[in-house]
Parts: sequence; structure tokens; C-alpha cells
Amino acid sequence: MSDFDLKISGGTVANSAETFNADIGVKDGKIIAIAKSLGSADRVIDAGGKYVLPGGIEAHCHIEQESSSGLMTSDDYYSGSVSAAFGGNTCIVPFAAQHRGQSLAEVLETYHGRAAPKSVIDYSFHLIISDPTDDVLHRELPKAIADGITSFKIYMTYDRLIVDDGQMLDILAVAKKNGALTMIHAENHAMIKWMSDKLVDGGHGAPKYHALSHPRTAESEAINRAISLAGFLDAPILIVHVSSEAGARIIAKARYDGRKVFGETCPQYMFLNMEQMDLPGMHGAKLCCSPPLRDRASQEEIWRCLQNGTFQVYSSDHAPYRFDGTGKLHAGPEPDFPKIANGLPGIEMRLPLLFSEGFVKGRISLNHFVALAATNVSKIYGMDHCKGSITEGKDADIAIWDPQVTRVVTAADMHDNMEYTPYEGMEVTGWPTIVIQRGTVVVENNELKAGRGDGAFVPRKTIDCTGMPGRLAPELNPSLNFGVDFGL
Ligand SMILES: [Zn+2]
Repeated sequence: MSDFDLKISGGTVANSAETFNADIGVKDGKIIAIAKSLGSADRVIDAGGKYVLPGGIEAHCHIEQESSSGLMTSDDYYSGSVSAAFGGNTCIVPFAAQHRGQSLAEVLETYHGRAAPKSVIDYSFHLIISDPTDDVLHRELPKAIADGITSFKIYMTYDRLIVDDGQMLDILAVAKKNGALTMIHAENHAMIKWMSDKLVDGGHGAPKYHALSHPRTAESEAINRAISLAGFLDAPILIVHVSSEAGARIIAKARYDGRKVFGETCPQYMFLNMEQMDLPGMHGAKLCCSPPLRDRASQEEIWRCLQNGTFQVYSSDHAPYRFDGTGKLHAGPEPDFPKIANGLPGIEMRLPLLFSEGFVKGRISLNHFVALAATNVSKIYGMDHCKGSITEGKDADIAIWDPQVTRVVTAADMHDNMEYTPYEGMEVTGWPTIVIQRGTVVVENNELKAGRGDGAFVPRKTIDCTGMPGRLAPELNPSLNFGVDFGL
């Protein structure tokens, strides 16, 4: 009998803090040995000349999700998870979206029902909270957190999703009390509406004007407000998809000031810019996302904030809508930009873009690549007991990257259910040629080896803020406020 089910031998192994040459021994889906030279295995993968890295964790993607206006994303849990796997991921954390009037139990039942029979890799969910009723706040959210859904997203914009400042405080207080993390889409709703109305009324409804309608100040104002409200309660938050330097600077300063705040950015803010939206006809609609693409100078600034650690999380915000009546153009063939479905596909290219343009070109180290690919989100979102690093005892979730492969990106090669990619024509160096989930090969030789439903739900731990500075506002501190109980 062999010592291991699987041995990956001769590769260069990297975690977020170290790089070394070793064999990896896998049994029953777990990494059970890491050493210079290991014994026999039922299957041996020769990783000579390759990098053996933790499987990526994609922690911001919209899959088989109805938007607030009822539009379904083009990817379901099969195509979405397959595309993620081909891009070097072994886990996804999409959103389970509450629409107003729905109970969270109903929402979670729906999404478990969508994911379980289809996902080829492991998954969890973040809840989207749009209707924080008393029952949602005080009964359903604590129950969801206890069941392993330890993060949720709220919106400061969009008519059918927006929560006001009072509702934000309610949600943040529940999150703090129960050990959950609140993710915030931070844009000032009124500014966007004011700009959109002025642009459309002035005859500027073409897709490229979408970028102007979401000013940088709308983002920075909302980030500042979110950090102020969360800081008041000393509740941890994560500002998602930051697109501007102004927003990033507020996050950096808040972290310096001892606030419990994390920052996330996305490849579209590093690799694309608003000039690319100036296309004939409606084609610019393919690049409409919120926050929008900015200018070239912003791209460099976002890179710098990724390098300097202002952003701990790098996610695709995959939100796939096809360029037709099922997606981008659901409101008609030539809608004004406010009626264009928002979002870009990118779940498969997230890691290859960062590997090529970040690690290969020397902008970030291999270890920093691993931190952004998997380790940071495994810690922030409570999955590091089983995922996010190559460590004895953890799930054997591994992506083997071949640094010699070069590829020209084309939509036809992507495995999502989209007919375009915003990264068409880019040349990238390095590719995840073998992807392994809990010891079983998912992708090899550019072929899918896993089946529908092979992925499993990952219940997550509560959020651990140990070691993060922070302080409750004095007015809420029982020693200063005559002992009033604010339920925190
Ligand atoms: Zn968002």
C-alpha cells in the first residue's frame, strides 16, 4: 500500500510567508506531509520547474444571482465554478442576495439549492442584506452567522438595495456582537443620481458617460462615512472594490488610526481604464461596472495601493451579463447608461493577470501573490482552519502554476457563459495548469476532471479581530456613559 493518495514532487512551494522546495503528500483530501523527499503514492505529479501554490479563493463574485431589478447573471454555479477552477481557484464565495421582503432562511435555502448540485469546487456565501427588519437583525442574522455565513454585504447606493445610516448602524452592531464582517459597497447614492440625471438630460446617455456619473468623490465620501459609522461602534468592515486613490487613502489612514477596516480592489481597476469605454454603438456597455473604470493615472495608483498593503483583498467582482437582451441590453437595444446592467466577467482571469503583471513583472513577490490569491481572504473570512495555505492538516487545495506558459487572452478560451472578456488580446505569462481540490484533480491538460456537485459548502468561523487595534466611541463605553446598554 502506498504512503499517500497523491504526491506532488519536485516543485517550488510558496505560501504567503515562505518559499521552499519540497514534496507534498496528500491522503484523504488533506495535506499530511511536506518534506524534501516523500515515500510512495498512488499518483505522483511531477512539478519540476513549476510553482506549487495554495488554490485561489475568489471571495467576491456574483453567480446565479438575480440583481435587484431581477436580472439573472449569465453564469450559474456550474459555469461559474468551472471558470473559477480553470483560473486557478479551488474555492468561491459568491453572494446570496436578499431582496426586500425575503427572509434570510428563504434566501439561503435558494442558494444552497443552486450551488450544491452544480459547483465543481468548494464554496461559501456572503449574504447581501437589503431589508434589515427586526427579525432579520435579531433572529435570522445571528442564526446565519452560527451556521457559518460570517460575512454580509450592504449597499450605500442602488434604489432597491440601499441601506440608510441608521440601518447601517443596526447591521454593524449585530455583526460586531456576533463576530461577523460587514462588506460595504461605498458610493454616495445622491451624487450618482444627480450626475446621471444631468448627463442623460443633456443628451449624454452613451455608455462612456457611466464613468463620469460615478465621481471619485462619491466613493471617497461614502468610504469615509462607512468608516466613521463602523469606527463609532468599533465594528470590523471591509470596503469592497475600491477604484480610486482618494478612497484608498481614507482606508490607509483609518488603518493607521487603528480602525478595523480592510480594503479590496479588483483587476478592472488595475488593467482597464475609462478611455476603453469610448467604443462605437453600445459596445462600451461591456465595460460598465460600479464603481466605474477610472483613468490611466488611477490604474497606477491602485497598483501602488496593492503593493503597499492598503488592499489586503484582490477579487474579480465577476458579475457576468452578456451583450444582449438577457444582460447588458435588457432594457432595450440602445438604453441610456443608467439602464445598462452593471458588471464585468473576470473570475478566470483574476489570478493569471496578477501572476503575469504582478509577480512575473516584479511588482509583487510570489508570497504576496499567494497572500492576495488565497491566504488573506482565508483569514479575513474565517476559512484559515481548512484553506488558504499549504500546511499539514489543511485541505489539499493546490494550484500548480507553469511560469513558462504564455497565452493570449480570448473570450473563446474562457469557461464562463460569456461571449466577451474585457481582457481580450492581452498576453499573459504563467498559467495554473493543474488545479487540485481536496486531493482530487479538478483541471489538468486544459480539461475539466471534476463533476457537477463535487464542491462542498464551507462553513466559516466567526471573524477574529484579535490583534487589530480599535476602540469603542467614548459615548458607548459603559465606564463613561453611566452603564447604558447599547446592545453591543
Ligand atoms: Zn458592489
